[in-house]
Amino acid sequence: MSKATANCRQESPRRVSVLGATGSIGRNTLSLIAENAADYRVVALTANRKWQELARLARAHGAEFAAIADERYYGELREALAGSGIEVGAGQAALIEAAKRPCAWLMAAIIGSAGLAPTLAAVSRGCTVALANKECLVTAGALFMAAVAQHGTTLLPVDSEHSAAFQAMDGSPVETIERLVLTASGGPFREWSREALRKATPQQALRHPNWDMGAKITIDSATLMNKGFELIEAHHLFALPPAKLDVLIHPQSIVHCLVAYHDGSVLAQLAMPDMRAPIAYSLAWPRRMATSVPRLDLAALARLEFAEPDTERFPALSLARQALEAGEAACNVLNAANEVAVEAFLAGRIGFTAIPALVEETLAQFERLEEAGAGGDLEAVLALDRAGRALARSLLEEYDDVLRPGLAAG
Ligand code: NDP
Repeated sequence: MSKATANCRQESPRRVSVLGATGSIGRNTLSLIAENAADYRVVALTANRKWQELARLARAHGAEFAAIADERYYGELREALAGSGIEVGAGQAALIEAAKRPCAWLMAAIIGSAGLAPTLAAVSRGCTVALANKECLVTAGALFMAAVAQHGTTLLPVDSEHSAAFQAMDGSPVETIERLVLTASGGPFREWSREALRKATPQQALRHPNWDMGAKITIDSATLMNKGFELIEAHHLFALPPAKLDVLIHPQSIVHCLVAYHDGSVLAQLAMPDMRAPIAYSLAWPRRMATSVPRLDLAALARLEFAEPDTERFPALSLARQALEAGEAACNVLNAANEVAVEAFLAGRIGFTAIPALVEETLAQFERLEEAGAGGDLEAVLALDRAGRALARSLLEEYDDVLRPGLAAG
C-alpha cells in the first residue's frame, strides 16, 4: 500500500466522491454513506443529464461540488443549487475536476466508456478508487492498470464477481491460482430458445431475475456480454491469463466467484444478490461495515445450481473471449460496438439477437480501424472508441437487412 493511501484512510470523517451519483450504483453508494453519515464527508457528485436528481442528492449529502456532463443543463443545476453554497460545473472539464478534488475514496460509477477519462483523472490523484465502471478495463485495461501502478492508487473492484474474487484471493500469489470462475445468473432469457430470443423485447430484457441495475448493464446481462466484459476485467485486475478464467451459469446468484488453488482447494464468496454488499466492502475496506443487506439463508434456498454457458444461444460471451485473445484494441472495439448495439435495441431499432450480430460484424471489419491506433495513450484509446462506434453505426445502416431479422421476427 502506498503512503498516500495510508494517509487517505486516516482522516475522519473520510472525504468521498461519487462519479455517476444518479445511477444505480451511485444511489446505492450514497444510501450506504447516509446510513453512516458521521463517518463521511461528500466532496463531489456527478451526473449526465439528471440535474434535478443531482441537485437533490448534492443538497441531501451536503456535497461541495456538483458536476453535470451535459452542458445544456448547467443553468438548471445552478439555479436548483442557488443559495446552497454548493459549487456547480458542467461538461467534461467539470467531470475531471470532480474526479480530481481531493478525497480519500472515490466511487467510479459512470456508465460506459464515458467513464474512462474521469476515472483515470481520479486514479492520477492516488488514494482509493472503487471501480464499478468495468468499461475502463475493457477499453483500456493496460493503460488503466499502468496508471494505477504509477500513482500508487488502491483499486478496489465493485462488480460483485470481482469483489468476490478479491475477497477469495486475499492477496494470494497469482501463480497459486489454477482457475478463477465468474458466475452468471444467465439473465431473463437463460432458458429461451434461439427462436424466442429473436422476438425478445427491451421490456422483457430489462426484467433481470436477480439484480436491480441500470438499463445498459441489464441488457448486457441478458446477452451475456456483461460476463464477457467481466472476463476482460478479471484479466486486468488480477493479472490472470485468459486460459485461467471461466464462466459458470448459476441462476440463484448466491455464489459470486470461485477461486481454485493449485492445492485443490476452492474458495468462494457467497452473499444475497444486492450490490450494497460489494459497495460496502469497498467503502469500508480493509475493515467491514454493518449493512442491512438481506442475510443468506442456505436452508431456505435449498438448492444452488451450476451449468456451462450456452455460447450458441449467447454468442456475446465467445465474442468477448475472442477480443480478449486478440488484444486491447479488439476489446475497445467490442465495447464501442456493443454500446451502439444496445442503444439501437433499446430504441426498438434492432432485435435482441442482432446485438451480438452487430458486434461480430464490427469486429470482423476491424482491420479498417487499425489506423485509428491501438493501445497507447488516452487519446489513442478514445480515437479507437470513436472509430469503433462510427463503424458500428455505419454497419447498422448498411447491414440493416442482415441485422433486421431479430426485429422483424418481433
Ligand atoms: P446507470 O445507468 O444506472 O447510471 C449511470 C450513471 O452515469 C448515471 O449517474 C448517469 O447520469 C451517468 N452517465 C451516463 N452517461 C454519462 C456520460 N456520458 N457522462 C457522464 N456521466 C454519465 O448505471 P449503473 O449504475 O447500473 O452502472 C454504472 C457502472 O457500474 C457501469 O459501468 C456498470 O457496468 C457498472 N456496474 C453496475 C452494476 C449494477 O448493479 N448496476 C453492477 C456491476 C457493475 P444520468 O443519471 O444523469 O443519466
